[in-house]
Amino acid sequence: MKKEERKRIARERVKRLFRLAEEASRQGKQERADRYAELIWRICLRHNLRPRERRRICRRCHCWLQPGKTLRIRTRADKQVVVWQCMRCGFIRRYPYRKVKK
Ligand SMILES: [Zn+2]
Repeated sequence: MKKEERKRIARERVKRLFRLAEEASRQGKQERADRYAELIWRICLRHNLRPRERRRICRRCHCWLQPGKTLRIRTRADKQVVVWQCMRCGFIRRYPYRKVKK
């Protein structure tokens, strides 16, 4: 199998796992969501992918970031950034306003 083909399949797997994780989290199954998050993380590492979906996974503890549960989002109007904080390990990421908008 060609490398591109493998990457395409990996990307599809990530998308599927992402949906599953979101659903699990919505149903309050945080542990399951975390397992999906870990899988997504590993697939991305192995195939060198940097999908948008990866933002929803904590870079340090690899847990699933669900706003209001494991993720705290604050906006800093003065600095034009959005602050994402993992409520498990406290890891902080900052994103500029523009990039957060879709
Ligand atoms: Zn974390």
